[in-house]
Amino acid sequence: MIKRLLGYGFESNVYLIIDEKIALIDTGTGFETKNLIKQTEEYTNKIDIIILTHEHLDHCGGAAALKEYFNAKIAMHEYGSAAVENGIFSEFFNARIEKTRVDIKLKGGEIIKLGEYELHVIHTPGHSMGSICLYEPNKKALFSGDTIFLDGGIGRTDFPGGNAALLKKSIEKLSKLDVKALYPGHGDYDEENGSLHIKLAMQSVNLL
Ligand SMILES: [Zn+2]
Ligand SMILES: [Zn+2]
Repeated sequence: MIKRLLGYGFESNVYLIIDEKIALIDTGTGFETKNLIKQTEEYTNKIDIIILTHEHLDHCGGAAALKEYFNAKIAMHEYGSAAVENGIFSEFFNARIEKTRVDIKLKGGEIIKLGEYELHVIHTPGHSMGSICLYEPNKKALFSGDTIFLDGGIGRTDFPGGNAALLKKSIEKLSKLDVKALYPGHGDYDEENGSLHIKLAMQSVNLL
C-alpha cells in the first residue's frame, strides 16, 4: 500500500509504503512533524526506514524527529548526507535542518527490499548532487523526488549543487524505465500515465 502524506504548502509529498517492512520516503520541512506523525499513525505505528530523495530542507527537515520518534534508520545518497549530518542552514527556508545520523549512505544501484515492494536506487543528480529516484519494478512505480513532476515539470537547477547538464542526463536515465505510477516530490501524482510524464519532462529538459 502506498499513501501520500503532507504535500501542502512548502511541504514535500511524503510517501508511506506499507509492506513487511515500512518505509517513509521524505519527511517534509519538519515544521509539520506533529501532523505527519498523526497522518502516519492512521496507518501504522512503526517505520523501519526513512529514505530521503535529496538534501533539501523541505524533504529532510523532519528526518531527525521522525527517526527518533519511530526509531527508524535513515538512508540517503552519500553526496547529500552531509546536509543532514551537519544540519546545514537553508537560505530559502531561513531555517536549519535538524542534525541527525544518516545510517545508510547510498551510491545508486542498491535495492531496498521491503517485501513485495523493492526500491531500486537510481542516482539522479541535477536538482541537487544527492538526488535519487526510487524505482519499484513490480508495480512500475517511480518516486521521483524533485527531479521530475507531472505534466513536464522538472527540478530547478538554480540552488547550490544544481546542474542543468546533469539533470538532463538523469532524466534521460529515467526515460529508459517502464513507469506506470509516478510519485513526485511535490504536487499531484499519477498512477496510470507515468511514462507520458517522463516523456514530457524530456521535452522540457531539451529546451534548457
Ligand atoms: Zn529540492
Ligand atoms: Zn522539494
